[in-house]
Amino acid sequence: MSDRFFIIGNCKQAGRLAYFKSLLSEFSDLSDETMDAVDFVLMPPVPYLGLLARESGRLPIQWGVQMVSGRTDIARTGSYNAEMVVELGARYACVGHSERRQYDGETPEILSAQYQQSVAAGLTPVLCIGETRSQRDAMDTLVVLEQQLSAVFSSQNFDKLPKHDIIVAYEPVWAIGAKAPASAEVVAPVFAWLHRYLNQCFGHGQHYICYGGSVNHETCRQFYEADHVSGLLIGRASLELATLKGVIVECSGC
Ligand code: PEP
Repeated sequence: MSDRFFIIGNCKQAGRLAYFKSLLSEFSDLSDETMDAVDFVLMPPVPYLGLLARESGRLPIQWGVQMVSGRTDIARTGSYNAEMVVELGARYACVGHSERRQYDGETPEILSAQYQQSVAAGLTPVLCIGETRSQRDAMDTLVVLEQQLSAVFSSQNFDKLPKHDIIVAYEPVWAIGAKAPASAEVVAPVFAWLHRYLNQCFGHGQHYICYGGSVNHETCRQFYEADHVSGLLIGRASLELATLKGVIVECSGC
């Protein structure tokens, strides 16, 4: 098991201010011991970020965003870049979530630019990768993952980035928004492969691999206990307080 265990809540386009405010007040119930045992990162919709980061005061919540534009030109109406969200209190940025690849047409080039912009601004990217059901059925999982990883890690100028934590979230697309997660046993070979791949690229102990896809408080423990899994990316479970707190307690080892 790695020295850190991330619980990263991707709130998507969901949750309203009232929910996030109750989350801040209810989080003070969790013991210091529990919260110290995990790295809890919340990625609310960006309009709420600044307010929540300010109001969270001393609570052990780290803030993140679900994407940054990766664009540098000003003429991008509706976009925001990594430097802007750093000013609001963000420390992490999701890059390459399958919903953005699928619905927002984010290409490998755009994702690489988002990754580089995040690191340059001081954010830690959480690089999401994963295969679709049909790619899995065609036994193409590792080919797809390799392409998604190399699009970022072998891209031009990657080597010039400052040293940063490498966080990869393996999110099989077929397990996102599903009734149940993939079992830890089923995805174990993928985690072993990712571990070897990242060791080769970045050396031992320099990277964290998270699992994402339909995890809740009842199913998280198997991943917490699995080899090479250093965290969870949770979607719906971050939008229900009792479930979210349950995941944190289960993965705190307390
Ligand atoms: C996600 O969207 O990254 C995710 C893991 O969602 P869910 O937990 O709802 O499947």
